[in-house]
Formats: sequence, structure tokens, C-alpha cells
Amino acid sequence: FFLKEKDLYDLVHRLCARTSLMAEVLFRQERIMISKGKIILFLLILLTALVVLWGYNNSTEGSFLCIYPYQSRGKINSNAYVQKSWWLSNWFNNRSQDDQVEEPQLSDWFNPKKRPDVLTVTDWLAPVVWEGTYHRKILEDYYTKQKITVGLTVFAVGRYLDRYLEEFMMSAEKYFMVGQRVIFYIMVDDSSKIPWIQLGSLRTLKVFEINREKRWQDISMMRMKIIGEHIIHHIQYEVDFLFCMDVDQIFKDDFGVETLGESVAQLQAWWYKVDPTEFTYERRPESAAYIPFGQGDFYYHAAIFGGTPLRVWNLTQECFKGILQDKENDIEAEWHDESHLNKYFLLNKPTKILSPEYCWDYHIGSSSDIRLVKIAWQSKEYNVVRSNP
Ligand code: UDP
Ligand code: MN
Repeated sequence: FFLKEKDLYDLVHRLCARTSLMAEVLFRQERIMISKGKIILFLLILLTALVVLWGYNNSTEGSFLCIYPYQSRGKINSNAYVQKSWWLSNWFNNRSQDDQVEEPQLSDWFNPKKRPDVLTVTDWLAPVVWEGTYHRKILEDYYTKQKITVGLTVFAVGRYLDRYLEEFMMSAEKYFMVGQRVIFYIMVDDSSKIPWIQLGSLRTLKVFEINREKRWQDISMMRMKIIGEHIIHHIQYEVDFLFCMDVDQIFKDDFGVETLGESVAQLQAWWYKVDPTEFTYERRPESAAYIPFGQGDFYYHAAIFGGTPLRVWNLTQECFKGILQDKENDIEAEWHDESHLNKYFLLNKPTKILSPEYCWDYHIGSSSDIRLVKIAWQSKEYNVVRSNP
């Protein structure tokens, strides 16, 4: 049969239209599939990136950026603090670490106005911690979650070991940093004489034997050298904060986390209200510990000082340098290591100061300033415990 020319033309036209329609549909489907593939590929890349980042953030090795010093040890160095402010790490920390909490600000736990009867803030805005000014619980919650460790060094050499160490340790076990991990570093000349002390589960005792200096003044001063060496060799890796104390004292009440800080000094109980011109600083210019009249903030007690390991190390180094310089110049500072400590804290202001309630001498008598004694001096039996004048 024959088609008319017009019909043929019509048929061809319709066939063409259909083909181009089919081609267009096919082309569109292909485009949709390509973009679907792209989306899946993109999601896969994103997922991989997230998994990698999450893994690195939680790894204990700290693969490409070490953020572990901060996470496991608290704010032990400023480097770690800077790393924390990196936004991504911060975001992950906040999401993946349930126990990660912000460090309380000073105003969260410290209220200087609660003790208008005494000086509670220094000229350089460091807190002076008195009973009533601090909220221990807030800090305890923070430090417990951070799982910090606090070290305490104590020297007991010669008769100081027999006379004072047991009471010091028994009372420290009861009152020092209750609820926190603690390492006691005991330096003795005869470890066979260490008393038996039952320790709680969070507490560790490390005993070191040291050589006994002949003069008691040297035993006292050499503590600076020995503490510094131990910080470098091991203490810096073991604790977040370190205290160094005399042994001739006894804990009477909780010595808690409100005392922790970068650089912590203790007010000497006999001198905290006295005019600085009367302080028994070293006044001879020949000594490295020299402080001229008119200078000086407080008279600090060498029986207690502390801070982060590196700050304490710096203190011990500077004091020991001064002690050696004096020996070369054949001079000895009036109050030995304490004179050098006072010089150090004049030049390097402590970031926190402890009231005399943290190291009180009952021989001073009663005082309304002293609301709760945390540590008390033992009676000074110099004739019994010291072997030279
Ligand atoms: N010390 C010691 N044996 C000594 C002299 C001193 O163990 O023969 C240690 C001990 O820890 C003591 C500290 O050094 O508490 C400081 O000495 P001391 O307490 O006699 O000084 P003070 O408190 O009278 O300034
Ligand atoms: Mn003492």
C-alpha cells in the first residue's frame, strides 16, 4: 500500500520526536545516577574523615597532635592549654568526653569578702586562702574528674625520723588531699626506721635514701637540691601538683584541693600581721638572699611550699643557686633555705597564698583570725633532734 507523502512526513516526524524524547529520558536518568554516585562518594569521604578524626581524638598515643597531656593530666603546662583552645579538639572533647568539665574560675570557688577581718587578696591579685573564703566541693568535683595526682615530699633525717615522721605520715594519710590520688615521697637516711603506715587505696608511698649532711643547716638547705633532682628524674611525670613540707608538724584537719595552684606559698604564723620592716629577711647585701628594707610582701614559711612540678623545680633551682653562691662567698643566710625562699617569692610572686591556718603554731595563743587549723607545728625540741648548734 502507498502512504501519502504527507502521512509519511508525519510518521517520520513522530518517530524522530519519540527518539529524541527517549534520548532525553535516558540522558536525564544518567545524570541522576551520576549525581547520586557523587553524593554517595561525598558521604563516604565525609564518614572516613569523621572516623579518622574521632579515632585520633580518642587514641592514647595522640597521633598527629599531642593533646594527651591535657586530657589525662589536667593543665600541667600552658602548651596543653593552648591545644585545648583549638576549636575542633574542643568540640570533640565536649562531645566525646562526658567527664570533661571546665576548670572553675577563681570567682566560682573563692569569695574574698567572706573574711573582711583579714587580707584575702594580694597587691598582684593572688588569693590568700582563709577558712570561709573557699568552696572546696566545686574544686573537688573538678579535680576528681580530672583524676589528678598530688605529690608530697618530706625529709626525715637523723633524729627527726624517730621523733616526727610517724605522726606526720599518719596525720597526712588522714587529712592531706582526701579523695585524690597522692604520692608521698619520703627522703630518709635510714629506711629501716620507717614506721608502718596503713595507706588508703589512692595513696602510694615512695621511699628514698639520701646521704646525711653533718650540719642540720645543710640537711635543711640540701632539700632544695634533692627535690629538684627528683622532680627532673621522675616526679614531673608522676604528679600534677607537688607540695614540699617540713616533718616537724602535724595535720589537724583537711588540707584540701583549695590549696592547689601553680606556685603556692605559706604565710609564717608569727609574722603575718607584722610590718615588713621587721621581717627577719636576710639583710646583708653580701648574701644572695638579701632583701633591702622597704622591700618584701610577706614573710613566707619554708615549712610548706608547692605548685606544679616545673614551678617547684624552678624555685628549688633558684634557691639552691643562692645557697651555693653564699657558700662560695663564705656567708650563710640567717634563716637558711627560708631566707632564699623569701627572696625567690619576692622576685617570682606566688599565684596562691595559704593563711596561717594552714601552718599554725599554738604557742602564739588563740586568735579570732584562726578559724580552722589544718596543720600545727610540733614542739621544737631542737636539743633532742639537732646534733649541732
Ligand atoms: N631536717 C631533718 N633532719 C635534720 C634537720 C632538718 O630531717 O637534722 C628536715 C626536716 O624535715 C625538718 C626540715 O628539714 O622539718 C627543716 O628543719 P627544721 O624543722 O628544724 O627547721 P625550722 O622549722 O626550725 O625552721
Ligand atoms: Mn620545721
